[in-house]
Amino acid sequence: MKYADVILPLPLENSYTYRIPDDLAKAVIPGCRVIVHFGKKRYYTAIVLEVHNRQPSTDYETKEIYALLDATPILRRPQLRFWQWISSYYLCKLGDVYKAALPSGLKLESETAVTINEDFEADSQLRPNEQSVLDAFSGALKLTVSQLEKKTGLRNVMPVVASLMARGAVEVSEELKRGFVAKTQTYIRLNERYLQEDVLKKVFDELKRAKKQEILLIGFLELSHTLNPSLIQEVSKKELLEYSHSSSNVLDSLLKREILVAYEKEVGRLQASVCRLQSLNPLSSHQEKAYNEIHEIFKSKEVCLLHGVTSSGKTEVYVRLIDEVLKLGRQVLYLLPEIAITTQLTERLARLFGNKLLVYHSKFSDNERVEIWNKLLHSNEPFVVLGVRSSLFLPFKDLGLVVIDEEHENTYKQQDPAPRYHARNAAIVLAGMHGAKTLLGSATPSIDSYFNANTGKYGLVELKVRYGQCLEPEIIPVNIKELRRKKIMKETLFSPLLIEKIELALANKEQIILFQNRRGFAPLMECATCGWIPHCKNCDVSLTYHKQQNNLTCHYCGYTQRPVQVCPQCQETGFKMMGFGTEKVEEEIVSLFPSVKIERLDFDTARTRKAYERIIADFEKGKTQLLIGTQMLSKGLDFGNVSVVGILNADSLMNFPDFRAHERAFQLMVQVSGRAGRRDKQGTVILQTSQPDHPIIQLVQDVDYKNMLQLQLSERSMFRYPPYFRLIVVVLRSRSESVLQEMSTLFAHKLQSQLGERVLGPVTPPVTRIQTLYIRKILLKIEIAAAIAPVREIIETVHTEMQGYPPFKQLLVHYDVDPV
Ligand code: ADP
Ligand code: ZN
Ligand code: ZN
Repeated sequence: MKYADVILPLPLENSYTYRIPDDLAKAVIPGCRVIVHFGKKRYYTAIVLEVHNRQPSTDYETKEIYALLDATPILRRPQLRFWQWISSYYLCKLGDVYKAALPSGLKLESETAVTINEDFEADSQLRPNEQSVLDAFSGALKLTVSQLEKKTGLRNVMPVVASLMARGAVEVSEELKRGFVAKTQTYIRLNERYLQEDVLKKVFDELKRAKKQEILLIGFLELSHTLNPSLIQEVSKKELLEYSHSSSNVLDSLLKREILVAYEKEVGRLQASVCRLQSLNPLSSHQEKAYNEIHEIFKSKEVCLLHGVTSSGKTEVYVRLIDEVLKLGRQVLYLLPEIAITTQLTERLARLFGNKLLVYHSKFSDNERVEIWNKLLHSNEPFVVLGVRSSLFLPFKDLGLVVIDEEHENTYKQQDPAPRYHARNAAIVLAGMHGAKTLLGSATPSIDSYFNANTGKYGLVELKVRYGQCLEPEIIPVNIKELRRKKIMKETLFSPLLIEKIELALANKEQIILFQNRRGFAPLMECATCGWIPHCKNCDVSLTYHKQQNNLTCHYCGYTQRPVQVCPQCQETGFKMMGFGTEKVEEEIVSLFPSVKIERLDFDTARTRKAYERIIADFEKGKTQLLIGTQMLSKGLDFGNVSVVGILNADSLMNFPDFRAHERAFQLMVQVSGRAGRRDKQGTVILQTSQPDHPIIQLVQDVDYKNMLQLQLSERSMFRYPPYFRLIVVVLRSRSESVLQEMSTLFAHKLQSQLGERVLGPVTPPVTRIQTLYIRKILLKIEIAAAIAPVREIIETVHTEMQGYPPFKQLLVHYDVDPV
């Protein structure tokens, strides 16, 4: 009898054992997907981890595998090894990794939504089951797997859905509420009524007195070759308007007259061009030197850190290395911290690498993600994959290089849900499994990486000058406490110096960036009489006032309510606003400079990728002259005409209760400052603070990374923090605060008895309750030199022991290894 250990997309056990039916005995192999039954009437796609003939020792009858989905594995061997590393290092289950790793198109569940492709035409005979699934839609566009089962009477349609998906007949999406929105573009065609030339002629007669419409229609006919069927072409609204120099009002009139017809068309995202359109830029002498040093380091070290100031041309150096690795026939992974900044770079890379470039992230449709997956799985060609952290899980054949840009960014760490992995650190492990080199790049490296370079674990290469004649910006701190005391800055957020610089820049037609790391209008609304502050009803945090929507919102759970009119504590009606966010900055700028074109870039205005891209593009093109934003501004954007950057309040960055606050404040301020400066002229940064003597302010002013590092390292070693100690946080949550307190104390106690003073807590975090769950944390500080495996074993043993206490079931428990 043969058995298969399979991974289910569940956070319970690492694997589950199923019996392999005799007819599948040869076909079920590791890396294949199978359908199995688990729990109440639920079917899942599972991944085969191991095949063996050890009878499981349970009281239950071992269930049989229901169906096999793949003739060949959909994972390459090293991938499962990588999954196992993530699950063991980050203390989570293989099922968690599986969920994060596979695009949802490859992991059908009973609740998966299936959408029919109406344009589908079979190129070969459909099997009867496939036909009956398609028939089951009978007009409906979207059904769940369970609905399909009911309608077809088939016991399990998932294998059928999988084969239909492979044919392109259906598309699946994980959850209805997060359904993928296809990228569409408006296209224009001629109403069929006017296809004959004599009928069309009448139209032109009618348009005699509507010159603009006539011009547009002529433009359309030229572009589309509608009257010459052999040359006919589809015409998008965008190109039509550009070609005929028309406005969309004119087009609307023609649409209203039903002469032209608009239709939406899905446009693919994988539109990389076929060949290289551009050759690589020659490197500057500094870049050349850095490039040679990296080569030298890679001879003896696996990882190299490139510390290059903003605009030094790190990307040019990466591109050179990528090109070489591709020419050797090996693959490259180019990681970015966020989807948002892939846009600027995608265009740049597509011009260089053509169809060798694959872009992968979660905003792509399922079919496209599966397409990229399969491309990597079935072909051995050298590709460069540009992606965010989830692209670590793609089926690479042979990585030769991993580039991690903006390596200091916190968004490389996944917060929720598990696996809570750090993509930078995991990528280094992945590279090791492939025998690939890793290049980390940043203008403000993380202290962790720089420490590794200092101790010789990584190599270090510096690029200290900006490309071209571009100068470093001048950073000027302004003491706003003093200005307030002297009543010079009373009711305003802007110091006179900042106003003066903005005016000057506006007069010179230059651009301005204002940075405030808080969205909303004012963070707090406070009772003027008794100081009462409205709080979220689900979380222990104060609500933020948003003026535009006129409401109070919780930034943790999204809870929203109308502003309070009467103080529930003292019954008074007077409220005042405390602190300020980007919305407030915008309001004040509008009143100071009413004619200036302004845009705001924060979580509220850039909710979608499209909105984000528009804001950035408008600023790049100079349509917007002044951009106000949160940390979204700091993310590796490259603008050419910014002469002034204003950091409105440095204090809120520095006074954060976290051991990384100063490192982070330094990084943010230096990165934002880096947006200032142009080819021919030095930029200015106005740094407003009420603590001008704070060491961090001095360090930012001098862009003195090394002294910042020294200062931080001495604090970190004194207080037992990374990079000297490894942190593991046990996060415990429950609706019942008393059960939580009791169980977390016991948990900490048991850990202490084995790990001693390395265990701290349970502590109540600054935010004690989120989404109606109370929170406690137990903090483990483990010497960096200590072996981690025994610690993990202790944690696992204690966890199992705790599960013996019935109240423990009222707790949600997870681990956060190397938290950020
Ligand atoms: P970084 O990533 O270090 O901030 P970038 O690679 O974005 O810097 O380079 C900054 C700007 O300088 C970009 O507009 C880039 O096109 C230009 N640049 C840098 N190096 C070169 C080069 N060798 N040849 C041409 N342009 C370059
Ligand atoms: Zn009050
Ligand atoms: Zn809340």
